[in-house]
Amino acid sequence: MMLEKDIERKVCEYAKAKGFLVYKFTSPNRMSVPDRLFIAPNGCVFLIEFKRTGEKPTAAQSREHTRLRENNAIVYVVDNVHVGKFITDMHG
Ligand SMILES: [Mg+2]
Repeated sequence: MMLEKDIERKVCEYAKAKGFLVYKFTSPNRMSVPDRLFIAPNGCVFLIEFKRTGEKPTAAQSREHTRLRENNAIVYVVDNVHVGKFITDMHG
């Protein structure tokens, strides 16, 4: 069992070490946007909503993911470090 902030920190550190730009993502008046924006060295852009182990996105977060995906954005929900690293490698 890991806390969201610990999973987020480890995945972001891993991605930065691989040359990704990693931004905390907040949007005024839109509380449910994913936590982080990743930009790979190859220009690939994706977003990650981090959750603690086993936790699912809220209904509002899921609606926001649908909205983003309808515009062809790449959005992941990550609740463990291993998967976060795998996603990073996949886009690197
Ligand atoms: Mg989160």
